[in-house]
Amino acid sequence: MNRLHQYDVVIIGSGLAGLRAALEASNHGNVAVISKLYPTRSHSTAAQGGIAAALGNEEPDSPEWHFYDTTKGSDYLGDQDAIEVMCEDAIRTVIELEHMGVPFSRTPEGRIAQRRFGGHTREFGAAPVRRACYSADRTGHAIVFALYEQCQLRGVRFFPEFHVLDIVVEDGRCHGVVAMEIPTGQIHAFSTKATVVASGGYGRVFKTTSNAIATTGDCLSILFNRGVPLEDMEFFQFHPTGLYGLGILITEGARGEGGILINGKGERFMERYAPTIKDLAPRDMVSRAILNEIREGRGIDGRDFVYLDLTGIPKQILQERLPEISTFSKIYLGIDPSESPIPVLPTAHYAMGGIPTDVDARVLSNERGDTIEGLYAAGECACVSVHGANRLGCNSLLDTVVFGRRAGKAIAECLREADYGRITNEVVERAIVEIENIINSRGDTRVGSIRAEMQKEMMEHCSVFRTEEGLKKTIEILTELKKASKNIQLHDRTKRFNTELLEAIELRHLLNLADVIARSALQRTESRGAHYREDFPERDDKNWLKHTFAFKEGDSIEFRYRPVKITRFQPEERKY
Ligand SMILES: Cc1cc2nc3c(=O)[nH]c(=O)nc-3n(C[C@H](O)[C@H](O)[C@H](O)COP(=O)(O)OP(=O)(O)OC[C@H]3O[C@@H](n4cnc5c(N)ncnc54)[C@H](O)[C@@H]3O)c2cc1C
Repeated sequence: MNRLHQYDVVIIGSGLAGLRAALEASNHGNVAVISKLYPTRSHSTAAQGGIAAALGNEEPDSPEWHFYDTTKGSDYLGDQDAIEVMCEDAIRTVIELEHMGVPFSRTPEGRIAQRRFGGHTREFGAAPVRRACYSADRTGHAIVFALYEQCQLRGVRFFPEFHVLDIVVEDGRCHGVVAMEIPTGQIHAFSTKATVVASGGYGRVFKTTSNAIATTGDCLSILFNRGVPLEDMEFFQFHPTGLYGLGILITEGARGEGGILINGKGERFMERYAPTIKDLAPRDMVSRAILNEIREGRGIDGRDFVYLDLTGIPKQILQERLPEISTFSKIYLGIDPSESPIPVLPTAHYAMGGIPTDVDARVLSNERGDTIEGLYAAGECACVSVHGANRLGCNSLLDTVVFGRRAGKAIAECLREADYGRITNEVVERAIVEIENIINSRGDTRVGSIRAEMQKEMMEHCSVFRTEEGLKKTIEILTELKKASKNIQLHDRTKRFNTELLEAIELRHLLNLADVIARSALQRTESRGAHYREDFPERDDKNWLKHTFAFKEGDSIEFRYRPVKITRFQPEERKY
């Protein structure tokens, strides 16, 4: 039997964006949070290094410098009105989190401690600054648990292990959500006044990634299929320091505490690429530098990795401030970072692109800025755009809580006027039929093999370096893989806890997003931030200082554009 629920607000996702939105919205109505994972297992819990705020606890800092760094870090594609909102609100946000119980690491005087991170500078790029507030290297874990507790206190209703299958957007408004209860296979419909999508990133499109298994971008793909555009999908960040062969993240905080990158000749090569801030240059630059060293034969022993050397950091600091990554290195590679350098290689990390929103998290229906009634998005799935073409470290946790809260506030207005959405039988039926079709499919391909091929292809031709030829090949292969994904066979045909079924659903979403990424990358004939075209190596402000909006048009994609909002800092050459 199917079940129908009615809530003023439904939030999809219980990462930091979802939890913060839920907490705020609970001031205005009854709130449910739906999550395919148990809430405290969301990827936010894995965040290591910190959250950015110009508290100035360790040395002078200002929100204005933070605003400048974020704009420059974004390679001038970030919308400056949104960046200013975020940086101005950062100090209040971190203090509020502290008051909610987040156990931040402390200075000897008892203030919130701060460390260096990539691209964080004082006086408009003069030198690195300590701006990252952290809880050892378990910052995400600390914040998620504090916010989850607050949500429990406020009576937010959680639906854990519910997999969202559809978000009902019809007649210019969002009506609610259709989800499957994973333990039973039962279908539930949620009629809402407001829906917040806070469903996180999609790093699993790539073979080597720091992202958790469930980071598959389902809701972006669902909305895209329902006619909502996706913005700036060509910009996907590779974090410079993934554990070699595994992609597991070693936080940039390790370099913030004094770690350095070394090539096969024993050189600290970042001195050549970014003479002022060296190893603390933004991630896009460091990732390209590492791969460039390897291409030119200066990997370690001529192989395809470089070293992250933390042996110069005192053992006590490693233990106190970087315990988690020290353990990862020992467990996965058998290397004690206090004694030997760690082999690293860039790993797919963060999606700058996503569901377009305004600064109050309202989802845009087009490049002109019209909004969809009752639909909000926040966190990594959204594109506000505060990160532009490249996100700075510690700005994502900040983005999730700042814009999660703003979504919760904006909803108050919507709740006063809106009625509950209408979820028809046809919509529920459509979800049921889709599930049945997958379960009963008698094709000849397995989910895992299609996924592996997609991830390999995306890694080879659509990651740090891109060319027209490679991208065209990727698009062809993805078209074939999409066809193959309709011709699969599951081992498990039951409804209860059928993880193979979930993987089949997620695979369709991943393929959908991979295609949007590759096609968006093909049409942008310039290099900016994380998008580097070897055949167009220069940034081209004359033609490309604009956001890409991708719309689904049958089997193809239509591209339209929205100008970047420049309020304060004119684009300059990006030197560090
Ligand atoms: C290893 C790692 C370390 C990081 N370190 C930092 C850091 O130090 N500082 C920083 O600023 N950023 C960091 N980041 C980035 C940052 O952690 C993320 O961008 C951010 O936490 C995303 O939060 P979110 O709330 O948007 O989504 P998530 O925390 O990813 O949560 C997504 C939620 O959506 C739910 N969901 C998704 N699809 C469905 C569906 N179909 N049905 C139901 N529920 C669904 C999931 O269950 C989950 O609850 C790091 C990222 C990684 C991977």
